[in-house]
Amino acid sequence: MPAITGKEYMDRLKNREIDLWHNGEKVKDILEHPAFKGVIKSQASLYDRQHDEDIKDVMTYSSPLTGDAVGTSYLQPKTIEDLIKRRKMFQHWASMSGGMLGRSPDYMNTVLMSLAASAKLLKGKTNCFPKRLIDFYEKAREEDFSFTHTFISPQVNRSQLYFEDSKEPIAAKIIDETEEGLVIQGARLLATQGGITDEIIVFSPGGVTDKAFAFAFAIPSDTDGLRFISRDSFVGGDIVYDYPLSSRFEESDSIVVFDHVIVPWERVFFYHHLQVSNTFKNESAFTPFTLHQIVSRQVVKTKFMLGLAESIVDTINIREYPHVQEMMAELITAYETMTALLIKAESNAKKDAFGLMCPEVAPLQVATSTFTKVYPRIADIVQLLGSSGMVSIPTQVDFESEIRPDLDQYLQSATLEAKDRVQLFRLAWDATMSAFGSRQTQYERFFLGNPNRLVRELYKSYSYELTKHMDYVKRFLS
Ligand SMILES: Cc1cc2nc3c(=O)[nH]c(=O)nc-3n(C[C@H](O)[C@H](O)[C@H](O)COP(=O)(O)OP(=O)(O)OC[C@H]3O[C@@H](n4cnc5c(N)ncnc54)[C@H](O)[C@@H]3O)c2cc1C
Repeated sequence: MPAITGKEYMDRLKNREIDLWHNGEKVKDILEHPAFKGVIKSQASLYDRQHDEDIKDVMTYSSPLTGDAVGTSYLQPKTIEDLIKRRKMFQHWASMSGGMLGRSPDYMNTVLMSLAASAKLLKGKTNCFPKRLIDFYEKAREEDFSFTHTFISPQVNRSQLYFEDSKEPIAAKIIDETEEGLVIQGARLLATQGGITDEIIVFSPGGVTDKAFAFAFAIPSDTDGLRFISRDSFVGGDIVYDYPLSSRFEESDSIVVFDHVIVPWERVFFYHHLQVSNTFKNESAFTPFTLHQIVSRQVVKTKFMLGLAESIVDTINIREYPHVQEMMAELITAYETMTALLIKAESNAKKDAFGLMCPEVAPLQVATSTFTKVYPRIADIVQLLGSSGMVSIPTQVDFESEIRPDLDQYLQSATLEAKDRVQLFRLAWDATMSAFGSRQTQYERFFLGNPNRLVRELYKSYSYELTKHMDYVKRFLS
């Protein structure tokens, strides 16, 4: 089954018996559950776009194995055109949610593509299985799997001196090896879309010192002993007018519990290898390609928020005020800067050690680490511009009631009738102030790791450029 449709994605989910918990109850009919049905439908509409004549050339490419159309996010780019095709695909999907769907399937497809392309780093090393990783990538590409993932341990004690010595494992670890595979016990954080995807990919967190925590594998979401515990839902309700974002794009985040989960050997990519566990991701093509997907989405999200802010300015006619102009200029700067960084990364792309056309990583690192600070400010500006409008937001039912004349009279604006103005402000509220909106801010701050780690990594990996700049100063002095 090559590039799937939305229906195929939903049918597969329905047929899986995923152990997903929400508000103290096991989720029975996932396609009808209020916390999940909206995002599942939205995700299905992404898959449907893979088949639409007007865009399918961007969304898919010919499988090197079968010639069938498969998803572009699985494409291992060999040329600049391939790289740009990947970006266009990411941005098309992102544009369908205003960039709010952080873990649309292209994110993890890209991760898997880049790790599989780097499989030679595992070659000849004990307990490392490069062929299994490549085979799994090919299977995922041909069957168009959707993924969640978890790369970090529970937030119990983050001191550098902490070593877990609990009798019962807390952080997921290898507790046994059998003929069938590895046995995993414990928990991991934090699987966005956990429970609503075909599979989960699990990688060791960085800095592992005990080989029981050193592993990488992928298993189906309905594997025995695997449980997803979803947080409380941030879906405000079903009505799109009232909850324009949360009714459609609330992805959920889950704690993942492994209760004696057996990971079949063919799904183990490496285990019990500390050096590989601590270096594989960073030495692989993971960083440039994952950041390329992320920044492509963040550019769309910034454009969306810029459009939203200018719509508020226009609607209540506040363009004449200097501080409003300054705030709008801040948003324009954010959008133009993110766009320029993305284009620079693509323009300076080069073939990497794995034969991929690899975007320049530094501009992408600058973009992602800057965005952790810029996005909260963007949300802040939308709130400052909207002021009381952000909370003067009656619902669709109010507009259908006998108080409608009052609403029409008192909530009209300079350019919009009351119902349209409230719709715009409800969008601004859902993007920045509702539970959904505040999670968006937290997501952009943290989903890629601690922001201070991101900037440290930028500084370390920039050393080759810094040496050149120091030489320049030396030459200048002499
Ligand atoms: C909305 C959301 C969705 C997410 N989705 C996913 C997902 O799908 N998959 C996934 O694997 N992860 C996901 N994450 C987790 C994300 O990777 C982590 O939040 C991130 O790596 C930070 O880890 P932490 O939350 O455990 O914070 P901690 O590491 O516990 O940090 C807490 C605080 O302590 C400081 N701190 C802790 N340790 C150090 C240190 N060594 N040096 C300096 N400062 C330190 C941090 O700066 C921070 O202020 C998601 C997170 C969020 C918020």
